[in-house]
Amino acid sequence: MHKLLLAFLLLCSFSASAQKDAALAITHVTVIDCTGAAAKPNSTVLVTGRLITTVGPSDSVPVPANARVIDANGKFLIPGLWDMHGHLTDATADAFPLMIMNGVTGVRDMGGDLAQIDRWRAEIENGSRVGPHIIRAGPFVDGPKEGVTNRLTVRTPEEARKAVRDLKAKGVDFIKVHNALPPDAFFALMDEARKEHIPVAVHLPKGVSSAEASDAGAASLEHVETMSESAMWRKGATAKTVEQAVDEILGPSGEELFQRFVKNATWYVPTLVAYERGFVLWSNDPESLIPRLQIHEKNIEIVRRMHKARVQIMAGSDFSDWGMVPGIDLHNELALLVEAGFTPLEALQAATLNPAKFLGKTDLFGTIQPGREADLVLLDMNPLEDISHTRKIHAVVLGGKFYPIASMRAQSLQDAAKQ
Ligand SMILES: [Zn+2]
Repeated sequence: MHKLLLAFLLLCSFSASAQKDAALAITHVTVIDCTGAAAKPNSTVLVTGRLITTVGPSDSVPVPANARVIDANGKFLIPGLWDMHGHLTDATADAFPLMIMNGVTGVRDMGGDLAQIDRWRAEIENGSRVGPHIIRAGPFVDGPKEGVTNRLTVRTPEEARKAVRDLKAKGVDFIKVHNALPPDAFFALMDEARKEHIPVAVHLPKGVSSAEASDAGAASLEHVETMSESAMWRKGATAKTVEQAVDEILGPSGEELFQRFVKNATWYVPTLVAYERGFVLWSNDPESLIPRLQIHEKNIEIVRRMHKARVQIMAGSDFSDWGMVPGIDLHNELALLVEAGFTPLEALQAATLNPAKFLGKTDLFGTIQPGREADLVLLDMNPLEDISHTRKIHAVVLGGKFYPIASMRAQSLQDAAKQ
């Protein structure tokens, strides 16, 4: 906790010292713009205010006289990363410095305390807090459940329709459905959300199949393990165990399902790292560890098949469920996506271009192009050679402000050593 506080104070002081409108020039850098284009060595990226204004060869882009110049020879520049499945309320405000220091400049909050998140969001917008862009659902829409918070409890189709209208009136960016919502209430909610033009992210309700959720217009389906839950719990299910369920999905019915996701433009956020952490690594029961590990391997194979079938996939960590760590576990998810057959560039896109596409904000986020928000991560090593190099963060640019993360880390260690 102490280290976090220190990191946060450091972020604040660096932020305060950053000049607001002066131009920033990152020169001689290899730009991986995440549009799909090849990496561009020896490039200059100019930033003015919050925005990227120019991207071009260092030989031909003039650097403005007043610009702060960062000579990034030998370094690599990628767009700021988005974690598309997080829970800020569970994580507390400690999440913010962790995210920024780990290059995560945007987050989709998948259920929490709306008033609190909006306070944080306002503080981030007015500059009094350093933190990522936040897209948020507000409370989960869920069926009756014990011992959970930040839920709108819905039992009937009528209550489901009302929940959609109420949440829309509160200005949420999308609706997050959770697994205890009764199926008839779920379908009513999806119908009402379609009428109200508000996207729905679905943690599959028990008894609803992934195919039905996709057909009902889910914007995104969450968590790879809900695929096997669907196979076990849908009407007419034949799979009795998780093992049978994953095998079913790895057969022809899975291929059919993936085609349906493509046809319906349903996005998938597999949160492989959360399954690995929650169901494999945190198992207290050695007996069950091996079978769970085998399920994890098959889940990775499911994501591989999905990706091959061209299902649109985004990276999400599901912090802070299962003790997932904001900022850090997104990098673990990127590595798991590469294990699932993504090229390193495709894994980067799952946390940059794809979230921007999903949010309908490619004009603002997700790539390194003029006109985009200057959210950038400067790396010491090439992430296209090895995805783990996304952790080699030299600096982060957030809304045009430059944070020298590597030297901040060194400094906080020094400060800690003095205590
Ligand atoms: Zn979650």
